[in-house]
Amino acid sequence: MDNTAVLTQMRQLIQLIAQHNHAYYVMDQPQIEDSEYDQLFHQLKALEQQYPTLVQSDTPTLKVGGKALAKFENITHTVPMLSLGNVFNQEDLYTFARRIEERLPQQKVQYDVELKFDGLAISLWYENGELVRAVTRGDGETGEVITQNVKTIRNLPKVLSAQATAVPTLLEVRGEVLMPKAGFEKLNAAQVEKGEKTFANPRNAAAGSLRQLDPAIAASRPLAFYAYGIAQCEPAHGLNSMSASLQWLTQFGFAIGEQHYLCDSIEEVQQRYDEIQVQRPDLSVEIDGMVIKVDDLKQQQQLGFLSREPRWATAYKFPAVAALTKVEQIDWQVGRTGTLTPVARLAPVAVGGVTVSNVTLHNIGEIHRLDVRVGDTVSVYRSGDVIPKVEKVWGALRQADQQYELVMLPTECPVCASPVVMPEGEALARCSGGLYCAAQRIEAIRHFVSRKALDIEGLGDRWAESLLNLALLDNVSDIYHLHEHREKLLGIEKMGEKSVQNLLDAIENSKKTTLAAFIYALGIRGVGETTARMLANTFQNLEALKAADIESLKKTPDVGDITAEWIFDFFKAEHNLEVLDRLVAAGVHWDAPIAPTRQPLNGESWVITGTLSQLSRDEATQYLQALGARVSGSVSSKTKCVVAGEKAGSKLEKAEKLGIRVMDEAAFLVLMAEYGQGI
Ligand code: NAD
Repeated sequence: MDNTAVLTQMRQLIQLIAQHNHAYYVMDQPQIEDSEYDQLFHQLKALEQQYPTLVQSDTPTLKVGGKALAKFENITHTVPMLSLGNVFNQEDLYTFARRIEERLPQQKVQYDVELKFDGLAISLWYENGELVRAVTRGDGETGEVITQNVKTIRNLPKVLSAQATAVPTLLEVRGEVLMPKAGFEKLNAAQVEKGEKTFANPRNAAAGSLRQLDPAIAASRPLAFYAYGIAQCEPAHGLNSMSASLQWLTQFGFAIGEQHYLCDSIEEVQQRYDEIQVQRPDLSVEIDGMVIKVDDLKQQQQLGFLSREPRWATAYKFPAVAALTKVEQIDWQVGRTGTLTPVARLAPVAVGGVTVSNVTLHNIGEIHRLDVRVGDTVSVYRSGDVIPKVEKVWGALRQADQQYELVMLPTECPVCASPVVMPEGEALARCSGGLYCAAQRIEAIRHFVSRKALDIEGLGDRWAESLLNLALLDNVSDIYHLHEHREKLLGIEKMGEKSVQNLLDAIENSKKTTLAAFIYALGIRGVGETTARMLANTFQNLEALKAADIESLKKTPDVGDITAEWIFDFFKAEHNLEVLDRLVAAGVHWDAPIAPTRQPLNGESWVITGTLSQLSRDEATQYLQALGARVSGSVSSKTKCVVAGEKAGSKLEKAEKLGIRVMDEAAFLVLMAEYGQGI
């Protein structure tokens, strides 16, 4: 990258961070996840490390993030309130420890490990045991005096007393004000009830509550204070470790974290971190990681500070629920039923504890809604077991000298080059080469041989996969050439002479079918059994159906606008036509269907309900369909007749209410016999 490009990127990041600092620290209304913020921050830090001469004077990496609000009295901290550096994985943690141990040669280092409370840092100033001042961190140098509000926090000692120790004349305690989870939920529920806005998370609720001008409001909020350090103590407490000084604070009534540990090695720190991560959901307060501190106070002094953080401590944050990464490519995958799904190929990124490098973008509508393009920086979210998703595109991070082309739906299937179709009103695009496309092969074959289609027993469930693996089936028309590969068939495991013969016989028998079953077998989207029958009745032969235009397809009963389009596009895909020709050439044939004019129940809607004793419902349905009727699952004013078997229930009642003709099983059989069915 040349210097101009680096500078542009630095300015973009500084501006974005400033904008989100304002939303977070001043408005208490963050617009992005903390982990996203952290990554913007790290991107900037990494750039600054690589190009130190270009570091900008207003960079946030050298400053503490907040700002003291003018509505409160401001005060300068005697000891600045710093932030913490952070690490996100074991490798970074070990680097942190190595750096410390290099600076403390020949010394044994112990680590104090505490919960990282997700709240708001404050400083409490006690004179002769009395709380005289409470101040926010602000920008680290200057904070807001919020003593009245802080005094309303119930678990915070306003006056210090202890039996064993003399109360210091001056004590400055640092700690975090937060809202325990239970209180936060109650508060939000109450806000909903009052019709007021809810808080995004306990941290914002705590910050918002503390910065109320009216202490009565702060008093009504369930806040708590947890101490994590001593900035000043006179006379000196005389303790020499972090862990002991925190323990010392508890005798005055200060709360410290539910969990804290003293670890002898950085490996042990990692172990504790893993444990806490598991316990996290059960803790009473929200935490966003652990804080790792060198325990020995003398060693802390030796290590000292960087501009915005101590060298002797770091925050070990929990895995991000959102991570920033780059879109390297967008591919289209073809599913087993022909749907085209766009998949973003990402620069691998750790999010929610796993590495993500592919993420579905669902459909072209979603791509355009997000306006995601190749080269974009995006946020990937994943919480718990949820499938990772792209929710945000960082348009502000696009580079002026780079091309970001609009993503378009491909016109041809990336697998078989058949036309891609997406009727208006549909969200998903599909490949129209259903009979030919390799991605759809297994589904196409299973459907083609199923009972209501060409009915080739055993092929779909038992043999389809093996035949595909042996490359004996490329598309459904190859079924009728399997007899040419008898030897190969015999080589399939568990396929003996008898099974081969049974399979070949079933294939041979399937050649005689009906036009309706054949149309159904093609697996055209939207064309189920009934629609296939309607198409067969309407068009009478395959050639007419192949040549039909959308308008005439729409005139077929049961065929709506979208299905008409699917059918039309199916017969437009050349490869499908090749397969059809091959099927017919192999001997698949049918008798011409009974013309609708000769179908006495043509277009009527019938309903069958209750239990029939002399024939199955399927058989009754077939009789009716052969006579041109439609068999429906529900009774309406359009129903022509209801066939009611034993124990007929609500459908019979409805038919009677609507005055629709009802027929029992005996009468139905007589009528069918009259029309030549079931004799
Ligand atoms: P930080 O929260 O990462 O760490 C420093 C703070 O940790 C200290 O000031 C202290 O208040 C707190 N802390 C909690 N438990 C502690 C313990 N046991 N010991 C010591 N300190 C403890 O840093 P920060 O500067 O306060 O804030 C930066 C963080 O705020 C970012 O990392 C980000 O997560 C969040 N942030 C988010 C947005 C956003 O838009 N979402 C914007 C700005 C900042």
